[in-house]
Amino acid sequence: MLGPVLLAAAGSERVRRLVSSTPLTRPVVDRFVAGEELPDALDATRTLLSQELTVTLDRLGESVTDPLQAIRNRDGYLELVDELAAAGVAERAELSVKLSAFGQALPDGHDIAHRNVARVVAAAAAAGTAVTLDMEDHTTVDSTLAVHEALRAEHPETGAVLQSYLFRTEDDARRLAATGARVRLVKGAYREPPEVAFQRKAEVDLAYVRCLRLLMTGEGYPMVATHDPRLVAVAEELAKRAGRALDAYEFQMLYGIRDAEQRRLAAQGHRVRVYVPYGTDWYGYFMRRLAERPANLAFFARSLATR
Ligand code: FAD
Repeated sequence: MLGPVLLAAAGSERVRRLVSSTPLTRPVVDRFVAGEELPDALDATRTLLSQELTVTLDRLGESVTDPLQAIRNRDGYLELVDELAAAGVAERAELSVKLSAFGQALPDGHDIAHRNVARVVAAAAAAGTAVTLDMEDHTTVDSTLAVHEALRAEHPETGAVLQSYLFRTEDDARRLAATGARVRLVKGAYREPPEVAFQRKAEVDLAYVRCLRLLMTGEGYPMVATHDPRLVAVAEELAKRAGRALDAYEFQMLYGIRDAEQRRLAAQGHRVRVYVPYGTDWYGYFMRRLAERPANLAFFARSLATR
């Protein structure tokens, strides 16, 4: 019940100002976000790499309505690529980007976002790393997949994200699996209407398994992004049945969520990538994490009450 309310609040400027302005929010945000500055992200990256994990970095930002902000976001990612290369960690630390941070919602936004992200993808490739395009709400899927396809012509390692809650995703998974793409499969984190998405968790989970089967038996590189223990077990089984070696797919989890499980899978020889968000624009990301799990909200409320 609370999830949809929190996802609606994620889009409210008033609630954003309220939540962001209280210093009491900070300790709770710190659980999910590596810090506000680039050095914070690099520190978190080094720590995770030392635990035999790999990383994908998200420089937080989304839904920009100002073309200059889109350029600033692009330049922030270019700086990140330089720093990863300088630190000698680019091969094990990739990037995750949201096209809405690069101007996708502006007039002519598709082309603007494409131009901006192409610069980042080229810089990442030159540094020996890769970019995955995060997936946002359903209205952006066609545009994001089209940009992904165009980028892959020159940089086939560029990844896409598919969300199992969308009705269309099985078809997208079938198509992308046949092209040999790197695909991160998630359940989906936005509030979507019943016209386009499954509303019941059981349906979303079953769709996840169907899509995972397509990806595991396909030509590409599946990135299994879930904290759900049942789906992790299903992924292991499907990978085995498809004859995939341990380096022919990977698990992905979010920073601060099920850390012990991340290390357990890595100790078993699995590739595990942690999604590390950093930056000042953490509000939307934070609210989606609260919405996913009511217990997080209780944790947040408790931390407010005990001060
Ligand atoms: P759930 O059924 O939600 O959770 C299973 C279990 O995991 C829970 O019981 C709990 O133990 C734990 N858990 C899950 N979420 C939390 C949490 N917030 N706090 C604490 N514990 C939790 N979504 C998009 O729409 N677009 C993207 O581009 C995208 N990228 C992602 C990248 C990565 C690496 C990951 C892991 C997720 C991404 N997501 C993205 C989010 C995803 O869609 C889900 O909202 C999120 O992963 C929760 O779903 P779940 O598969 O973990 O299963």
